[in-house]
Amino acid sequence: MSGCDHPGLMPVEAALARLMLLAEATAIRETESVALAAANGRVLAEPLIAGLDLPPWANSAMDGYALRLADWTGQPLTVSQRIQAGSAPAPLQPGTCARIFTGAPLPAGADTVEMQENAVLTADERVTFTQPLRLSQNVRPQGQETRRGDNVLAAGTRLGPIELGLAASLGAAQLTVRRRPRVAVLSTGDELVEPGLPLGPGQIYNSNRRLLIAWLQRLGCEVVDGGILADDLELTRAALGALSAVDLILSTGGVSVGEADFLGVALRDEGELALWKLAIKPGKPLTCGQFRGVPVIGLPGNPASTLVTFGLLARPYLLRRLGVQRVEPLGFAMPAGFTWSKPGNRREYLRARLEHGRVVPYPNQSSGVLRSAAWAEGIAEVLEGTTLNEGDSLRFIPLSEILG
Ligand code: AMP
Ligand code: MG
Repeated sequence: MSGCDHPGLMPVEAALARLMLLAEATAIRETESVALAAANGRVLAEPLIAGLDLPPWANSAMDGYALRLADWTGQPLTVSQRIQAGSAPAPLQPGTCARIFTGAPLPAGADTVEMQENAVLTADERVTFTQPLRLSQNVRPQGQETRRGDNVLAAGTRLGPIELGLAASLGAAQLTVRRRPRVAVLSTGDELVEPGLPLGPGQIYNSNRRLLIAWLQRLGCEVVDGGILADDLELTRAALGALSAVDLILSTGGVSVGEADFLGVALRDEGELALWKLAIKPGKPLTCGQFRGVPVIGLPGNPASTLVTFGLLARPYLLRRLGVQRVEPLGFAMPAGFTWSKPGNRREYLRARLEHGRVVPYPNQSSGVLRSAAWAEGIAEVLEGTTLNEGDSLRFIPLSEILG
């Protein structure tokens, strides 16, 4: 098993590397300050620096009794105060203990907490402990999680539920984020019709528009819906020209070498056109260029190709334009539940599931079959020039890694 370069086809890594360079050259640097409540899905523009220690003071990890360990001689201790979460305790009177609850501040002078399950109240309301005690047990020390001044989240971090919870724990009410990218979506093809309208002869419903718009929204983009673009050079020019205020024009279809592929002609005449033949299946042709200065990515029109090329190339490109560093999806090695006997010259991304711990591809891997991806839980990568026997391992990328 070995990878092999195929002359004339661009390996996926090379395409990704080029896209990363293009993304960095056109990074979206404008920032805005947003309330924490509005920051879900955005990308941090500045590191989040802790303004306080977490926890801000030593506190109890248990409901129980706080004491100074040196005071425990085996003789019952008097309970000198009661400390609830949210209260400010007095210093611990020497030779006593304090009733304390989870999350309540440790009183000055206490260094140890015993849980209530190991405590017994004596007849005179004092407390004795049934188990040996260890210094500092059940105490959460000040700054255990974070020290004031720590860089808690780096610039370029995508904000999701965990990051927002963390920012809230530090009292951050506003965050500085990159502005949303504005992305225009164009679906090219005379054959395309929107759902809700009847299909005429030779027509099909437009799937890519909804696929990409929903996906871009998940990525925090502001979407400009360019609708369906007929296969016509003048209309293509006019549509591209009307999109001068976006950060990216993302189109589908019309990127192969067919006669009705006008996107390329328009880019060549009034911008810049690179037609990449990728060593990727589905999704060999990809257009990458600009129209009057606006970056354009043209994805292949078959819906499964659109899915794979957007997920593996355009998505990382967009995230990198926002300063995100780790843009590639995580994948992990899993054993094949199938055999692959014909080595290909393109890397195959099979829409697949995990069944009994093995990768099982959808039976129809045609690039027009979006149903394969709806059935799938991930995409499994079969490298160029390789064969697989059952049980051989291949990389499996969960769809959840690329969809958000
Ligand atoms: P093209 O690259 O324009 O030749 O399109 C390749 C294939 O994808 C053709 O079968 C098209 O009908 C199909 N296709 C292109 N765009 C879409 C779309 N938005 N929704 C569904 N199928 C499409
Ligand atoms: Mg077409």
